[in-house]
Amino acid sequence: MAFDYLIIGAGFAGCVVARELAEKQGKKCLIIEKRRHIGGNCYDYYDAHGVLIHQYGPHLFHTDDQQVFQYLSRFTDWQQYHHRVLAEIDGQKVPVPFNLNTIDRLFPRQMAQKLQNKLIENYGYDVKVPILKLRKTQDTDLKYLADFVYQKMFVNYTAKQWGCRPEEIAGEVTARVPVFISRDDRYFQDKYQAVPKQGYTRLFENLLDHPNISLLLNTDFKQVCDFNADTGALSFMGKPFDGTLVYTGLIDELFAFKFGELPYRSLQFDLEHLPQDSFQAVTTVNYPNNYDFTRITEFKKINHQQIPGTTIVREYPQDYDSLDAQKNIPYYPVFTEQNQQKYQQYAEYAQSFDNILLIGRLAQYRYFDMDDIVKEALQTCQQYFGLRLS
Ligand code: UDP
Repeated sequence: MAFDYLIIGAGFAGCVVARELAEKQGKKCLIIEKRRHIGGNCYDYYDAHGVLIHQYGPHLFHTDDQQVFQYLSRFTDWQQYHHRVLAEIDGQKVPVPFNLNTIDRLFPRQMAQKLQNKLIENYGYDVKVPILKLRKTQDTDLKYLADFVYQKMFVNYTAKQWGCRPEEIAGEVTARVPVFISRDDRYFQDKYQAVPKQGYTRLFENLLDHPNISLLLNTDFKQVCDFNADTGALSFMGKPFDGTLVYTGLIDELFAFKFGELPYRSLQFDLEHLPQDSFQAVTTVNYPNNYDFTRITEFKKINHQQIPGTTIVREYPQDYDSLDAQKNIPYYPVFTEQNQQKYQQYAEYAQSFDNILLIGRLAQYRYFDMDDIVKEALQTCQQYFGLRLS
């Protein structure tokens, strides 16, 4: 079969673009995926005990975008799910994001009330304040609170997760988990919060179930494609390819690292099955200050599985290293100004080629959530391929 598009990577970016092209334009798409499975880092599977495991760490879908939610609803039924996280601070498990309830748990009553009132007076109720912003307050009580939260919840967690201090990464990273002036204990406040009822892998199977989509697993694109990073010449299986390359992998790798390597953080996951029916009160417990892992997630709580036993995972952050099999999965772009500048060089260079399209967390070097990627993929299809959202 002759293909119109070569799509590198079978995560959300690649699969949504493939489906749109295949379905709405009748284009023949080949997805080339390095791993032995589809779904990218959303991939999940049932372990020997029947627990649905997210192999690459917990993925909790949430979005305010109705179009994105409706689009995905074509490919999955949903299980309503509101993510809740606790953090172990001073020996107690308290709600994250840090909110008014967290204050009640950690401070004496009168002091808690004073801090809560001051937060509401200064910022309003139901308002999210990034920790780095709160630390700039002139109010001595709020400054005390900000420093407390910063020290107990952010400094050590960020050191483990990113290997640096919160000020050394872009503010938008820690702003993902702001101080929330509210009694709402949920991790996210989006309108739509749910997980695929039969898992993400099934969702991806449905997304790819189209006669115009072919899939090549276990294949590094460099084995079958040759992309000349100087001229943009592209060949597939030894023959010139004049279609478009939709690339969702590492942007620096595509361009032969010509502006240097972009750093990433990787993770190691330590799974453990336990005979008890429940391990912890909520799906995820963060350990900002103790241990080398950042958090423990108990998977059966995500899909509300009523089965005996439980499986948990501990996450150990580490630097990405393409040459080390234990560290060679790039999970997070490292958001520093210097890295952003380097990425910009790649992005600008990429614009000189009209036969490639870069999309997704790795190709755009962005800390995208799942819904951001789906949205980006749908918008890209509209812009570049003139497709309408159905
Ligand atoms: N963070 C923190 N303490 C926490 C939770 C989050 O310091 O208890 C910071 C940390 O820098 C982390 C960032 O906030 O990387 C974003 O957290 P999020 O839970 O969004 O990370 P993800 O689930 O994407 O790994």
